[in-house]
Amino acid sequence: MTLKPDEDYVIDFNALLGHETVRSVAYAVCYIRSGTDQHGLQIWWAVTINLKSIGTNGSFYVCPADRGPFNFVMITKVWASWAPVNGIKTNDLLCPNSYWYWIAFFSQGSDFAQTPHQRSVSEVKYPSQKIMMECDAADPKDNSQIDVVNGGTLPQAHGRDRFTTLFVDGHASITWYPITMNGTPTRHRTGVWHIDPSGPFGWGMGSLDWIDVP
Ligand SMILES: [Zn+2]
Repeated sequence: MTLKPDEDYVIDFNALLGHETVRSVAYAVCYIRSGTDQHGLQIWWAVTINLKSIGTNGSFYVCPADRGPFNFVMITKVWASWAPVNGIKTNDLLCPNSYWYWIAFFSQGSDFAQTPHQRSVSEVKYPSQKIMMECDAADPKDNSQIDVVNGGTLPQAHGRDRFTTLFVDGHASITWYPITMNGTPTRHRTGVWHIDPSGPFGWGMGSLDWIDVP
């Protein structure tokens, strides 16, 4: 295709093909014919990731231990009448998912209902001790893990008091986390800190400079 000077320079491959394709990559080569030197030219590109069509594996983000999946349980049961999120339907979710991305990494403050905010890695003081994500594989029929009446969760599908956790430096670990559903440390022992306690029920996860696991 050849673009005229006043033509839109965005190439939409889906529009060219007339439909969306999954697991595909498009390549473009661009030549510019110009009577004068052109400085500061830029080629911009974008990636489209459509989570709804991650191949045929719709459970890509579901942990094998999860009896939920966790995000479905949260939306339909635990948070069904909680104002910030009620009304969200499972169809609105991009995909079934067991994993919780900590609030501190995408918002201001540590409350559940916060303003989205871009955060940077340099704000993390202890990358190997700061948890970024955990697996919330849970058994929703066990009300010591999912307490719909009281709106609480304490996923334990990987074992009592255990979370599988991903740290900012990229390593993963099983973290001992002896917290009850209301956020009270119950079987605390020396050497294990309470995962960022600054938010509601100890689930604040709000400080990037906090050491979650010493
Ligand atoms: Zn898991």
